[in-house]
Amino acid sequence: DTATEREAVRSAIERVAARMEEEKEYLTDLDSAIGDADHGANMDRGFQAVLEKTDGMDDADAAELVKTVGVTLISEVGGAAGPLYGGSFMSASAELGDGITAESTVAFAEAFLDKVQDRGDAPVGAKTMVDALTPAVHTYKKSIEEDDLEPVEALTKAVDACQRGVNFTTPIRAKKGRASYLGWRSVGHQDPGATSTLCIVEELQETAVE
Ligand code: ADP
Ligand code: MG
Ligand code: MG
Repeated sequence: DTATEREAVRSAIERVAARMEEEKEYLTDLDSAIGDADHGANMDRGFQAVLEKTDGMDDADAAELVKTVGVTLISEVGGAAGPLYGGSFMSASAELGDGITAESTVAFAEAFLDKVQDRGDAPVGAKTMVDALTPAVHTYKKSIEEDDLEPVEALTKAVDACQRGVNFTTPIRAKKGRASYLGWRSVGHQDPGATSTLCIVEELQETAVE
């Protein structure tokens, strides 16, 4: 019911916020190698603001909470990642309007990826969050729709796929975002945004296990 879903979304928000705080330095280190050393601070600040904004939303349903995540990230986080993550949470939240089901979460994941690609215009292989998100979303969808897995198992598969996507960003050259200014010098560094995407997917999986 609505209350159970609200608590699940809140629990996911708390987990992601705690994880961003934990990874703040690591994400910033990754961004200092190929960017402007702010990705950890951006994500941490954004999700701390999300925690504050969603704290009093005692009557909100899942879709409203997720929409607030997006709106807050857009307003609190500048740079590339804020509008990309924020815009996606905001628009994909509509897919949860009738509740959280295996089907609606697949629709959410697909809408999320679509929006990142719409806004950022990065193909797979440009060394961005798209490289982590794409295999995660495709694996989640296939696991639910073709392999008939439960959402929690599908998420476990998605985490594995996402990790491989993150690994794939290291040897390739950046073609989008700040890292692309470095050209070939971006080779050999793991992408910060792909890494934060993995952290988020891992925390969603942990929430589903709960
Ligand atoms: P900024 O680069 O503006 O400082 P952040 O450091 O917060 O913003 O985020 C950088 C991350 O954003 C990159 O590691 C990359 O994953 C992601 N990114 C940058 N540009 C794009 C894009 N056009 N499409 C998708 N992701 C992008
Ligand atoms: Mg940066
Ligand atoms: Mg920046």
